[in-house]
Amino acid sequence: MKLLIKNASLFDGIKDSIRPNQMLMVEQGVITSVSDGAAAVNEADGIIDASGYTVIPGLIDAHTHIAFSDSFDAMDRMTAEELAVRSTVIARQMLERGFTTVRDVGSNCYGLKQSIDNGYVPGPRIYASYGAISQTCGHADYRQNRAQRSDFSQGIEDSSFMRQGHLILADGVPQCLKRTRDQIFMGASQIKVFGGGGASSLFDPLDTIQYTREELRAIVETVANYGSYVCSHIHAAPAMKIAIEEGIQCLEHATFMDDDIARQCLDNQVWVVPQYATAELIANRQIPLGSEILYQKTERVGKGLLQQAELVEKYGLKCAFGTDLVGTPEVHAKQNLELAARKKYFGSFRGLKQATSDAGELLKLSGLLDPYPEGDIGVLRRGAWADLLFVEGNPLHDLDILANPDNIKLVMKGGEVVKDNRQR
Ligand SMILES: [Zn+2]
Repeated sequence: MKLLIKNASLFDGIKDSIRPNQMLMVEQGVITSVSDGAAAVNEADGIIDASGYTVIPGLIDAHTHIAFSDSFDAMDRMTAEELAVRSTVIARQMLERGFTTVRDVGSNCYGLKQSIDNGYVPGPRIYASYGAISQTCGHADYRQNRAQRSDFSQGIEDSSFMRQGHLILADGVPQCLKRTRDQIFMGASQIKVFGGGGASSLFDPLDTIQYTREELRAIVETVANYGSYVCSHIHAAPAMKIAIEEGIQCLEHATFMDDDIARQCLDNQVWVVPQYATAELIANRQIPLGSEILYQKTERVGKGLLQQAELVEKYGLKCAFGTDLVGTPEVHAKQNLELAARKKYFGSFRGLKQATSDAGELLKLSGLLDPYPEGDIGVLRRGAWADLLFVEGNPLHDLDILANPDNIKLVMKGGEVVKDNRQR
């Protein structure tokens, strides 16, 4: 089956230009040719006319928790199947908002990913980390009160949510290796660790350094042996310094960066995945959090990120788009607002590139663990997955257009149309 997309005004994900009248041929979910003028129209089994729309690569959100559909408190009271059913709604809505691929940096989305990849439910491609790995009393130790102390409760994961494998505790090199290999066994494409304190957890101050060098090094080496990389949740500069020195290749948030850390990122080609819109939304108390402590921590993060954006720009750091939204479908619905935030800090072209080819380049660091190796991601060229959007208006001119998902009229994933709101 050969599908032809004709009359496309094309943004390829890489160059700051729109090429008019492009013809894209798609076979088995992958783009086999991009050409201008009269491609072999009569060779096609089906034709879609893109006249009047800008055709761009499907968006990539490189920092999601796709199975997290409520507050941690609320999720702790849900069974595994309730969480799983809810995650299918979140996944479908992400796809309809134009996100054809996500990187999940911590949630047990195994069943969801299998169901999407096997065609049972609609959703994005998922580059999954599965259980995100944390030290005890680290950022992913989400026990909600101190009565859950391990030796009182006779089990460190005294939280149904943690027992379900979304967040994993590991202490010491042997446990870190075992838990890392467990995630790879499940099919993780990269491993997520918590290398420092976080805003959404109760018992670890933001400025803490988490994991020893030995523990981090052991995890990094294990993942490198599988051809992939480790990403780390991290806010504080001293924690970032250690993470980079021990071989972490992607810093999530990277909030309290300074010039030294920025230079270190540049020298080591380390990626950063910040979340500007989400930090702003929480700072303005537009996303519900469980306690005043969490709001205070997050307000600090929001302020730190404003300075961090200047450093990302000044040093031209490798930066991918990510949102980190955790909550009900109403919270996840704010996903596209990050595009408007990226426009504010980096301009429309760079902001869109961060959500397409740049994020695609980051995801492909998963090397031998890449779950979708048959095609490139985040670009529209020969050999890329036919993941693309028909957009009303020109997002290279004004990225705010994509902040409203209603302007995305058609979504195609792997050559299949999964949303079509074009005027007929
Ligand atoms: Zn996160």
